[in-house]
Amino acid sequence: MAEQVVADKLKLSDAPKKLKSKVWQYFGFRDGSPADKAKCKLCFTDVAYAKSGSTTNLMQHVITLI
Ligand SMILES: [Zn+2]
Repeated sequence: MAEQVVADKLKLSDAPKKLKSKVWQYFGFRDGSPADKAKCKLCFTDVAYAKSGSTTNLMQHVITLI
């Protein structure tokens, strides 16, 4: 898939396994980027998420795309 190729170029790391929400399949982390920002694998936007583990922001971002 083209998206995967781009993701490889950006060296996105998958979210840690401890992050169990399904929404994490759409987000990764880029090496060196702030840990409180997840990068969307679909449009490569940085999306902030709460350290509390809330994925509300991420959910809302994905919902606008799918
Ligand atoms: Zn996105």
